[in-house]
Amino acid sequence: MESIVCNGCSLLCDDVVAEVSGKNINSLGLCRLGQVHLETAIASKIEPNERKLEKAASILTSANSLLLFGWTYATNEAVKEGLDLATTLKGHFGSSAELGPLQVMSQGIHTSGLDIDLEYVRNNGEFIIYWGTNPSESLHRHPSRFAVLPRGKKIPEGIESRTIGVVDVRQTETMKMANHRLIIPIGSDAELLDTIISELDGRSAIKSKVLGIPASELIGFVKGLQKVDCIIIFYGGGVINSGNHDANLSGITKLIATLRAAGKDAFALPMFVQSNTMGVTQLVQEHKIRVDSLQKLAAGEFDTTLIVGDDVLTKLPGPAARALTKTKIVYVGPPGGLTDERAAVSIHTTDPIISGSGSMKRLDMNKIEFKKWKASRDDETLIAVLQRLHEIVRSQMT
Ligand code: SF4
Repeated sequence: MESIVCNGCSLLCDDVVAEVSGKNINSLGLCRLGQVHLETAIASKIEPNERKLEKAASILTSANSLLLFGWTYATNEAVKEGLDLATTLKGHFGSSAELGPLQVMSQGIHTSGLDIDLEYVRNNGEFIIYWGTNPSESLHRHPSRFAVLPRGKKIPEGIESRTIGVVDVRQTETMKMANHRLIIPIGSDAELLDTIISELDGRSAIKSKVLGIPASELIGFVKGLQKVDCIIIFYGGGVINSGNHDANLSGITKLIATLRAAGKDAFALPMFVQSNTMGVTQLVQEHKIRVDSLQKLAAGEFDTTLIVGDDVLTKLPGPAARALTKTKIVYVGPPGGLTDERAAVSIHTTDPIISGSGSMKRLDMNKIEFKKWKASRDDETLIAVLQRLHEIVRSQMT
């Protein structure tokens, strides 16, 4: 078996191996999602795209108002090519990271990036809180590789040396491994954060049930925080997409500050799922690109769209999705999905898990390079397709 890098989610696991022999695909270390991702990528038959590229280029060069969108599954190199292509075509560059991650990463708590990485969590994280995120369904190996099970420098006995808390609006699979399970009504995260902060500040805020949580349970949770030296809060869609994200994030920031004031090491890390959300977010921030394409799209400002590597029609809010279907869509990415189906031209590309080239940024912003292996195919990679498309666009424009 050979070492590969999985891009089934933003953990970009690089400690896994696989081999393909005949129709059999064997792997070690991949989670269920990763195995399905690998099998789908291998089964995808990618045809040469030359004629389609000509047609796509003529659609893009005749656009009156162009949006280049998607990108959270594209490699860093492909995103950079996309930024250049947007400049050539005088198009607007947007990304699926505008559906929350870009807003989160420009908030006070993360303006200078992330304070720690996942290796730090493995070595030091004593009290782990999953808040509004269910890694058992979306980032399978997060608990087993980094945050719950493994031993670390200051975590000699792995799970036995850690305390796990889960806050969510319903019972989740992740709660099965938790010492503290706090189920709260939708939209009440900020209120719970306030209560915890008051209790930590010594104001004895918890006298009876809070948001349906028995007082003894919540006091136990706060006492747990007071007992340890290092606390990590992983927050996800439940915090970011509840329509209340400003209040929720400032509550988390305040909780971190309160814990630090009490002498603890405390950090908050986001849980974005799409494989290169962090890479795109960083590049968009570095290029100082305005984060307004969803509003512009919903207002009908674009007549043509280039969608790259992401089935965005299934994710966009209603008005933006409806407006997108009224544009002429050129889709570039893996085969399958609604956006691919609705596109005027679809150009299919080989998945990075197979091509084994390029890099992405892991959930904690560490750069991970894909690895070549025996099953690697160099044809029709996203970066190669975008470079050829860009060349044809340039030649059509001269
Ligand atoms: S956790 Fe994510 S990156 Fe790791 S093997 Fe599973 S799908 Fe792949």
